[in-house]
Amino acid sequence: MFETELFQLEQNHLLRSLTPIESCPGPHVTINGKDTLLLCSNDYLGLAAHPALCKAASEAIKQYGFGSGSSRLVSGSSILHHELEHRLARFKGTDAALVFNSGYAANTGIIQAIAQDDDIILSDSLNHASIVDGCRLSRAQVLIYRHNDVNHAEELFRKHHASGRRLIVTDGVFSMDGDIAPLPDLVHLAERYNALLMVDDAHATGVLGKTGRGSVEHFNLAGRVHIQMGTLSKALGSFGAYVAGNCDLIEFLINRARSFIYSTALPPAVCAASTAALDLIECESIHRERLWKNRNKFIAGLRELGIDTGMSETPIIPLIIGDSAKTAEAAKKLFEYGVYASAIRPPTVPDGTARIRTTLMASHSDQDIDMAVDQVRRLKQEGHL
Ligand code: PMP
Repeated sequence: MFETELFQLEQNHLLRSLTPIESCPGPHVTINGKDTLLLCSNDYLGLAAHPALCKAASEAIKQYGFGSGSSRLVSGSSILHHELEHRLARFKGTDAALVFNSGYAANTGIIQAIAQDDDIILSDSLNHASIVDGCRLSRAQVLIYRHNDVNHAEELFRKHHASGRRLIVTDGVFSMDGDIAPLPDLVHLAERYNALLMVDDAHATGVLGKTGRGSVEHFNLAGRVHIQMGTLSKALGSFGAYVAGNCDLIEFLINRARSFIYSTALPPAVCAASTAALDLIECESIHRERLWKNRNKFIAGLRELGIDTGMSETPIIPLIIGDSAKTAEAAKKLFEYGVYASAIRPPTVPDGTARIRTTLMASHSDQDIDMAVDQVRRLKQEGHL
């Protein structure tokens, strides 16, 4: 039944497959029994295997068991969920916060709840798939503006009348390009058109801003972005997602976001690990400093080699190749040389922009970065890049 489609994907070098990791998610992992440098994890601060998170989770399991038993609105709302939400609201400087089971569930749930028939959504052309799917689930008119082009967004607002709400939605840091959304301009646009502004800080939480609070802190826009979504699964090294905003927004989502209402709550131990990660982020800036140091060292090495790193401004650094077959081959070679960074091809990125997406972690050593640059040099010398 699916053979033809799978065959076509293979022919077009677009077939995806899974790579089992046989060890803890550190800067080095074991794959096929071989020590490999991990260069594509979103565990930016290296907290996924941190003892403080593991201890918090195992202590919570002892006290609260593992499964949550039901959705938050039934019996799944443990005090650890509530404690995490208080901490997230404090961390983000908002009145309230709500935990979702994943970033995908958060984006689909929030957008579907907020935008309805008579509403208009303005969405960046490179927004994450979960935003795209949230827009599809809503019954609003969805207008796509050219990537980070606020003038184009305004033009679309001028051309299209909305009798209901207006929502602007953007990634804070774009997941496949590593560039940062022009949030100050989007805030002005939202204020001029009386629109709601939503930012997805999946890759900005713990990474951007003086104290790691995300893109709103980075741009000094406290109180001017209505809906701040983020994940707990990337820099926080845990699992799940959150939305932070005012009390009405949170109460509205508890009552209207289907992915929140109709899904079993996260295990309490996962919330305990997220809270432990917040403790670390709030008291230790060392992880973030190390992350940025590594990022700057790696991109300097790549620039010296003349590698096309696109628009990257963050620890997400794409090695843009363009052709899907060439990208798959280059990632395979890099893996043979001991570095794991996955090939990202359409439809995850636009046609003709396939890339190896590399990401830095705080836990990479100087030698790790040197080794990664050496292997990229080798790929280039062999004509793969
Ligand atoms: N938003 C962005 C920008 C992402 O990159 C991702 C995950 N890669 C998500 C949302 C979804 O988050 P999760 O993995 O928690 O479902």
